[in-house]
Amino acid sequence: MIGKTPAIIPRTGKPEHTPAWQIELARAVRSGDELLHLLDIEPDQLNIRPLTGDFPLRVPRGFVRRMGRGDPHDPLLLQVLPVHEETEAPGGYHTDPLREADDMPVPGLLHKYHGRALLTVTGACAVHCRYCFRRHFSYTDANPAQGQWTQVIDYLAAHAGIHELILSGGDPLSLTDDRLHQLTGRLEGVEHLHTLRLHTRMPVVLPERIDTGLLDWLAGLSLRTVVVVHCNHPNEIDDSVTRAMQRLAQAGVTLLNQSVLLRGVNDDAGTLARLSERLFAAGILPYYLHQLDRVQGAAHFEVDDARARELLCALRCRLPGYLVPRLVREVPGECSKLPL
Ligand SMILES: *Cc1c(COP(=O)(O)O)cnc(C)c1O
Ligand code: SF4
Repeated sequence: MIGKTPAIIPRTGKPEHTPAWQIELARAVRSGDELLHLLDIEPDQLNIRPLTGDFPLRVPRGFVRRMGRGDPHDPLLLQVLPVHEETEAPGGYHTDPLREADDMPVPGLLHKYHGRALLTVTGACAVHCRYCFRRHFSYTDANPAQGQWTQVIDYLAAHAGIHELILSGGDPLSLTDDRLHQLTGRLEGVEHLHTLRLHTRMPVVLPERIDTGLLDWLAGLSLRTVVVVHCNHPNEIDDSVTRAMQRLAQAGVTLLNQSVLLRGVNDDAGTLARLSERLFAAGILPYYLHQLDRVQGAAHFEVDDARARELLCALRCRLPGYLVPRLVREVPGECSKLPL
């Protein structure tokens, strides 16, 4: 197996030292035909887009195992399968819907909100979510050059008001443990920084990533740690995910979740309520429920604001307040994400 998976494994790592998560990542499904075959679905049951282009299909096998067999409308499948609707180009959908390029003082560093800054450390993800607002993001322009964190550290050091750094991407846990160590080694030298936050879908789509090496890194940090996972549907949480979350909690991490409201995936009150309850059972509190960013290729996922508000009201009637996420939209130029 190892012989067939060298593409993603760093050349420096001897095969016997390659962490299991990297092997699993390299084995991710990358073909629509294979995905549908694994799920016993006939291709003509779905409006599949030919798999060319810059944002190809990618989904780890463990996540595929959580999909329903024979169900072309499975809510996990719909999040990852490229379909023809993506080529529709309705007005109001853009390649950089948040105009993030305007808020970057240093390549990769977004400083939009008071007290916190967000660093995109990689363009790589374990899964390619079709609705992703960063699908057109130019990571080659926006990423700090390999190993060169100096500009970022200088900016953080010069801005005493920044207390929290958010690592984002892509998925920051695509970085190897060594790279994470290197980065936080530098960050810990910035005195006014006290919290490190990770925005990652990895614990959900590739729970193997939460291994001893990663936990040792987290537990050894002098920074407070928050992990905001990204989970949209209760079926995404199986026992392997729950165990990964328990290990993160034991390492002293505060666990929150953000979801995106997606038509056909989670746009009903029952699903959202079950999601909150499953998250809580895994030790995670719901944080944000995002209205979709209007990124080109994702229009078919949009839920209108009236319906979104209705869903939130229904959730408030069913759940304790701490299990109701904040319904928000990101609006360029605002001082925070805007509650609807
Ligand atoms: C979402 C976001 C944050 C974090 O906002 P919180 O409301 O603190 O979760 C910070 N910076 C940028 C650029 C963001 O998009
Ligand atoms: S894991 Fe996050 S950044 Fe990566 S494709 Fe999915 S939504 Fe986008």
